[in-house]
Amino acid sequence: MRAATYVYLYGACADFDICDSRDEIEQEVLSIHYLCGADIYFQVQSMTSAQLEFACNSLVGMGTIFHVQLDTNREPVAGDLNSTLEVIVFSDWKEYDLYSPLFFGNSTDNGGIYLEGDPSNPSNQARFIAHLADWLPDSPVWNLEHEYVHYLDGRFNLAGDFDDLRIDTHKTMWWLEGLAEYITHWDDRAAIRRYAKGGVPPLWDVFGVTYDGSSDEVYRDTHLAMWFMVDQHREDVRRFRGFFRAGDYHGYRDYLNNVIGERYEHEWRRWIVQSGNRAPEVVNPLPHRVMTLHSSLVLNVALAFGDPNGEALTYAVSSSAPRTVEAQVSGSRVTLSARALGSAVVEVSATDAGGSSATQSFTVTVRPFTDHPIVPGETPVRAVHFTELRTRIDALRSAAGEGPFAWTDPVLQPGVTRFRLVHLLELRSALAAAYAASGRPAPPWTDASPVGGTTPIRAAHLMELRAAVVALE
Ligand SMILES: [Zn+2]
Repeated sequence: MRAATYVYLYGACADFDICDSRDEIEQEVLSIHYLCGADIYFQVQSMTSAQLEFACNSLVGMGTIFHVQLDTNREPVAGDLNSTLEVIVFSDWKEYDLYSPLFFGNSTDNGGIYLEGDPSNPSNQARFIAHLADWLPDSPVWNLEHEYVHYLDGRFNLAGDFDDLRIDTHKTMWWLEGLAEYITHWDDRAAIRRYAKGGVPPLWDVFGVTYDGSSDEVYRDTHLAMWFMVDQHREDVRRFRGFFRAGDYHGYRDYLNNVIGERYEHEWRRWIVQSGNRAPEVVNPLPHRVMTLHSSLVLNVALAFGDPNGEALTYAVSSSAPRTVEAQVSGSRVTLSARALGSAVVEVSATDAGGSSATQSFTVTVRPFTDHPIVPGETPVRAVHFTELRTRIDALRSAAGEGPFAWTDPVLQPGVTRFRLVHLLELRSALAAAYAASGRPAPPWTDASPVGGTTPIRAAHLMELRAAVVALE
């Protein structure tokens, strides 16, 4: 067969009178025929009907995406007669390598090949020659969709044949491969993330790539560039198509060089970061909070969010009822201030450099005091009960134009500071002064004249102080 291939490749079959036998072999090898839609004709060596159906559906799907993304109106380039596509599929690469050069005269140092031919010649047949990917499950046709896009591109976008594109001088290659990859891997967001990680060259360099480039440059970078242009500059894509369809490849190159030039570089970078970006995530839900009126609370929300790309996050916070719970943020420190009784929903969001964000919210309830009510014989008296009253009374004094009270044992340490009668008496007199300053009589106190060492501090003493504080607030 090798010798025969040689003979046919060099056009010598007539000399040996074996041209007919080539056609016979071809019919025998590619014996399965299948019509997909009205215009795709499969001739294959060995495919099940399920495989053929799958391949056909896949091409029809690609076709739809192609026409929608490029707004083609399904109008072929003027004079393009490639209304049908022949898809040749060999069983594996070895068979492809053995027969394809003989049948079609192509080289096989590739993963399949699209031969557009001369689309203006009525006897021309556009043909994609491929083989099954026998290393993949269900052995799909290798590169089928990619090559099909080349066919559609040639028929609906690009006037002339492959040589007219002048890929080495006219910056057309990025379009060819970029479009084939873009349509084939339509909306594969995971791909863009992988690409972005690998570092991407300036858009200007991608426009100028040729088949001498590396595989990443030829397929990956052009894929991204096409994605970017369709996503962000559909108007330019429309213009490119206008030039292509008119066969004005000079006009296209001038437009690319002079009008677009390096104008989009900044935007291109930003778009890659944004598209490849993964949004921040909630890693620890912020729990609901109960706060005491006029107290404040500081949270480090950096522990509540994470970013899969490891980017720095900026935080924002808002309160559904700022008069009840005021929320402020500085860096990752969120300060909540309980301003009034009631509750509020506090929303915290974390945003990364690409502008993606995660949000979570929690409820803050503002109650009057800790352990409210204090139940005699049940609720132990705690330092916080005194501290809260001091804070609230100082706030009332300040509102009434009085200075803060000079408390005995200014810091009441839980479990360390012993509660003394003086602490209670001070609360009473400090509050009485606030009442007096507001022109109101102070309320009567239980055990109005307690005796140190004899009168214990009781729940009733604290509860009536609380009531008096709330009454003045
Ligand atoms: Zn290609």
